[in-house]
Amino acid sequence: MTTEELLAFDREHIWHPYTSTIDPLPVYPVASAQGVRIRLADGRELIDGMSSWWAAVHGYNHPVLNAAAEAQLKKMSHIMFGGITHEPAVELVSKLLPILPPSMDKVFLADTGSVAVEVAMKMAIQYWQSQGKARKHAFATIRSGYHGDTWHAMSVCDPVTGMHGIFAGSLPVQYFIPQPPVRFAEEWNEEAIHPLEDLLQHHADDIAALILEPVVQGAGGMYFYSPTYLVRARELCNQYNVLLIFDEIATGFGRTGKLFAWEWAGVEPDIMCIGKALTGGYMTLSATITTQPIADMICSGEAGCFMHGPTFMGNPLACAVASASVSLLLESGWQEKVKRIETQLKTELAPAADYPTVREVRVLGAIGVVEMKEPVNMAYMQRRFVEEGIWVRPFGKLVYVMPPFIISPEELHQLTTGLLRVLS
Ligand SMILES: *Cc1c(COP(=O)(O)O)cnc(C)c1O
Repeated sequence: MTTEELLAFDREHIWHPYTSTIDPLPVYPVASAQGVRIRLADGRELIDGMSSWWAAVHGYNHPVLNAAAEAQLKKMSHIMFGGITHEPAVELVSKLLPILPPSMDKVFLADTGSVAVEVAMKMAIQYWQSQGKARKHAFATIRSGYHGDTWHAMSVCDPVTGMHGIFAGSLPVQYFIPQPPVRFAEEWNEEAIHPLEDLLQHHADDIAALILEPVVQGAGGMYFYSPTYLVRARELCNQYNVLLIFDEIATGFGRTGKLFAWEWAGVEPDIMCIGKALTGGYMTLSATITTQPIADMICSGEAGCFMHGPTFMGNPLACAVASASVSLLLESGWQEKVKRIETQLKTELAPAADYPTVREVRVLGAIGVVEMKEPVNMAYMQRRFVEEGIWVRPFGKLVYVMPPFIISPEELHQLTTGLLRVLS
């Protein structure tokens, strides 16, 4: 098949994320990827600025992860998890528990981030149901969040930038409070917590859980807020008997400069979701984790168990690669790498703050964000980035990079200079 035939077939029959079938945005055929380089079918090479949406922290085609996949493939790719267990799952969970919040003890392996969020929300509902408090069935969250594209995950995404308008009427109504106004490094202002306090004072009887992306809001706005917000939210959740869910699907595995973003605040959630970089970007795997008392309460209810069980739960191939990826990360000196990326992003993206089209530049960990004043023309920008030899995919007003941690200073320089050239 020639590249032209491939593209024509794709255009005719294959759906891409958030893309029209009537007037699809162009797609770029990729032949292979190695390290931080994506090789297009026409031979051009692009420096990856996206880590395939937070996931590919070790870059592509990594020998250690390849070996883990190959070794597991020879034993079995998949086996059902009902009534069966296996070493890849046990090994993965035994590696995760020591790096998760100390109170976390029970791990539910799911398949995608959105499913992990659905599972967390179902856990919260069953937890209250078991105690005869079925009325506590709504969720609270802050604006500009993103928690996935499935039904209830969608209901806690930002009601304006999310899909509430389109699906209104069939989405459950949740409680939204303003985005925390205190930025990551700013001095705490107690007024920032008043909307949450007010909400819980009046509606805690209806609310099963508060769900937050700790410190970094991802796809909903690429916004960094004060860890003190989490400390105060934890106190209020305790006071008003509301569970606290941390969605660390984007922030997990070192991206923000801590292994997990809850560490910035030092307060633990009741339920936590991880995904994305869990397998180093090799395949889809997620997990929802909770404490033993919560798990036991869930299972002491009428159902007698937690009511969820995906077909590909605990997929051995994904678990084996995830296990290798976690070890690789912990041995890789990720902290220095992320720190170095942060320092370089701060220096090299700074000039963009003076561009007339740019509202703000912000950097935390290995995340660099250029917020524009107006939404960008995605097709045009994408083409220009490719011409510069870099892979960056903006959305709305946000142009951002979150490269694989293995990116060299030279490659990162190429990424930021290409980015600035297009934006100027
Ligand atoms: C990406 C993301 C999800 C959804 O994960 P999928 O694997 O795309 O379903 C949920 N929460 C956060 C914070 C995310 O970044």
